[in-house]
Parts: sequence; C-alpha cells; structure tokens
Amino acid sequence: MLAVLDSGWLAQGKVVAEFEECFAAATGSCYAVATSSGTTALQVALLAHGIGPGDEVITTPFSFVATANVILAVGARPVFADIEPDTFNLSPLAVAQAITPRTRAILPVHLFGHPADLPALLALADQHGLAVIQDACQSHGAAIAERPLGEFGTACYSFYPTKNITSGEGGMVTTDDAALADRARLIRDHGMRERYLHEVLGFNFRMTDLHAALGLAQLRRLDQFTQQRIANADRLSRDLAGVADITLPVIRPGYRHVFHQYTIRVAEERDAFVSRMRDQGVRCGVYYPRTIPQQPVYRTLGYQDACPNAEAAAREVVSLPVHPGLSADDLDAITAAVRRCR
Ligand SMILES: *Cc1c(COP(=O)(O)O)cnc(C)c1O
Repeated sequence: MLAVLDSGWLAQGKVVAEFEECFAAATGSCYAVATSSGTTALQVALLAHGIGPGDEVITTPFSFVATANVILAVGARPVFADIEPDTFNLSPLAVAQAITPRTRAILPVHLFGHPADLPALLALADQHGLAVIQDACQSHGAAIAERPLGEFGTACYSFYPTKNITSGEGGMVTTDDAALADRARLIRDHGMRERYLHEVLGFNFRMTDLHAALGLAQLRRLDQFTQQRIANADRLSRDLAGVADITLPVIRPGYRHVFHQYTIRVAEERDAFVSRMRDQGVRCGVYYPRTIPQQPVYRTLGYQDACPNAEAAAREVVSLPVHPGLSADDLDAITAAVRRCR
C-alpha cells in the first residue's frame, strides 16, 4: 500500500497489472481485466460481447439486482428464466424454453458460491450460437469437476467487502479470448489505447492501484478463506442434520461450493425465524427477500411473477453466518440457536 503511494502512480498501474495476472492464474483463465466493481465488470463483459439494444439476455430472477440491471444498462432486455429449487441457480430447462430469435446471451449466477450448471448451459449456448457470461461475484475459487470457472468462458467477479475476497471496491472480467480481453480493456478506459484517441465507446471503469494492492493481499489468502468457509459449512450441515422444518444447502456431486452464503430454507414463517434468531444473538441474512422482477423498478417496466421456484425461494431463504472469522464456539452457538428457534 505504501509502495503504491510512494510510486506516485495511483490508477491502473503496475499493481493492477499484477493483480490481473495473479487473478487470471487463480481462476483458470488466460486474461483478466480489472474494473471498478462487479457491476462494471458485468457491464464491460456485456459490451465486449457486443450486446446492446434489440438483444435479449436470459438470466436468473433470484440474484442481486445488479445482475439484471447491467443488461438494462447496455440497452438490452433481461428475460428471466426460473431457478432449480435445490441449488437456487438458473435451470437449463427453463433457459431452453426462454430462447427466442433475439436471444444473444445467457447470464448465469453462481448463487451463494454454488456453481450453476455450466455444462448444460454451455451446450445450449453452443446449439443456439449464444454467449455465456458468468456472474461469478459470489464464487471466487469455485469449480466444476476440478475445473475452475475460468475454464468455462467469460466470468465476472466482485471484490466488494462482503464477497469471498475484497479490494474495498473492485471487479474483474476473466476470459480465454484475447480479442475479448482487448475490447474489455478499451471499454474500461474511455475506448482509448493511444492517448486521446477513442476507438470505441468507453467509460471510466478502472481500478486503482490502491484497491489492487488490497486485492492482491486478499488473493494470497483465497484458498485459506475458501477452505475455512467449506469447513464451517460442513460443520453446520453435520450439526443441523435432521432438524425439522428446515432444508439444508445441497452440493451437487463434483461441484465445489465456496459458501459465499450458507443458505437454508425455512418454509413456514421465515421472517419470524429470523427475528427469533436475532433475539438469540445470531444475525441471519435474507438474500434475497424479493425476486428481481418483483422490484419496483422492474414492475415499472412491466415484469410480472412468472418464476414460481424463485418466488418461493424469496419467501423461504435464510442465510446463517459462515464467514472464515467464525470460531467452533460461534458455530455451536449458531446451531444451538437454530434448534431453539424451530
Ligand atoms: C455483489 C454482486 C454484484 C455486484 O458487485 P459490486 O462489486 O457490488 O458492483 C453482482 N452480482 C452478484 C450476484 C453479486 O453478489
């Protein structure tokens, strides 16, 4: 950090380049392009894939709102396909039914750190000539069949403080495609390769070297953090097995779930459960209490409820603490509180 300040080069300098290189290596991709946030990473990726007005992008209704907002931001139309009830991720069957002649891309989210069914989604995309842009903002370090997400095409990450690793604010686009990486770099910096020569429409979506220095330090600890999250989740699942009226998270065989969140379902009176847990001293999160189409901004655009699995999830999910800072005593207190609150 002090070295960055001493260097006098604060924005988009050597430390950003080093963070990009290390992050590409850590996520199994050839190129990484650092951005100012996960949201701008997604926006850059959509633009670099040439997605814009008249295009439809199929995505999940059950995610943080930025996933769909970036589709609107580039002038395209989000089309919501329902989720799988067990993993909370985009259902390939529902995606297949949502494809139209205007569909240009599929934007799956690896929600809570469990990878979406990329093999099925990539097969669909291949069949219909679509791009796949992964929202990996909650899934740093996740994998399918030991293959890191970077091996499955374009992916976008966030380094917001609540994510599995942070740079304060920041994001990253990873890809194996040199031309796509080049376009992403241009779009991130005013469409400019040569000073004051603007080749394409671009913006200021750059990362600073100060943020990159934080990100690099965190990246070195990603494996350790991830292993701790997985161990915490294992312990919660072991100690909560058999508790009535809750459904524990699943892990698909061969999938590496990195537990950004440890999310259970409470089918009856979820909100009362959350407040009883708070009274027991355990803060739970509800990600997310509404689907994206249920948000007022999407209602204004004419979106209605059409994804029953997502709507049920929004009513039933509760995330228990699982972060790497928890002690064994903390985890015991959490499971004891869940038992008392049922
Ligand atoms: C956090 C998050 C984003 C946005 O990332 P920011 O860095 O906050 O802009 C997008 N999608 C998902 C699924 C996220 O969790």
